[in-house]
Amino acid sequence: MTRLILLDQWLLNKVSGGFSRRDGGVSQGVYRSLNVGFHVGDDASHVVENRLLLARDMGIDVNNIVFGEQIHSNQVEIVTKDTVRSGPFDSIAKADGLVTSDPSIALGVLTADCVPLLFADAGAGVIGVAHAGWRGATSGIISEVIANMVLLGGLQERIRVAIGPAIRSCCYEVDTPVIRAARVAYDRMGRHMPSWQKSTIHTGTVMMDLPRICHDELRTLGIVEEHILDTAICTSCMPGSFSHRRDFGQSGRQAGLIRLRG
Ligand SMILES: [Zn+2]
Repeated sequence: MTRLILLDQWLLNKVSGGFSRRDGGVSQGVYRSLNVGFHVGDDASHVVENRLLLARDMGIDVNNIVFGEQIHSNQVEIVTKDTVRSGPFDSIAKADGLVTSDPSIALGVLTADCVPLLFADAGAGVIGVAHAGWRGATSGIISEVIANMVLLGGLQERIRVAIGPAIRSCCYEVDTPVIRAARVAYDRMGRHMPSWQKSTIHTGTVMMDLPRICHDELRTLGIVEEHILDTAICTSCMPGSFSHRRDFGQSGRQAGLIRLRG
């Protein structure tokens, strides 16, 4: 059994990264079994054990994994091993994106429908993660991560980005505020918003493709098509993922993890 979709080869083996799956952990009930989120009500000792299992699979010290607090913002922090973790559960307060050039730490992102993104410029030795729900995706979290990577020497034409398991247009019914935010985001990109399919469930709602918005933002920012990898997994209707929507808010979290290899 594999706990991780490992992307090391795609990351040119200078960076190690992957997305965790739902199986292979010790949590029970709605958190069964590889829940790695402390904030969702699971038994903390199970989460500790699950994080240890994942860290071991990636060959890293679990204490060196840094997560952001994740508040659906567009805030990005540049992290070193000395960065103060004043958010809940040792996280970086108020951050939805993290960037580092420090090979001693790994960056993590927790999701259960929102889009997890891993970023790497192996040449510059710079990596990043982003948590992109509709609010983050439409308010520039991705462009903020890229901008901070560039500050550390990253180059758009070299940066690779992996889009992890997330809710997709098959399952993501959204209403007017979300559609309006997406329109603003596409206006800012200078692109036409895709004509999302109308929902057959409620009037006035559409089936939105959140990973597609992320993809379009990446292309607008100068990330080349061949450097974007989409796992194409829907958390809601495909097996093997936690899904906040499908499970009515009673759900564990999967992780995206990335680190520089020394
Ligand atoms: Zn689906």
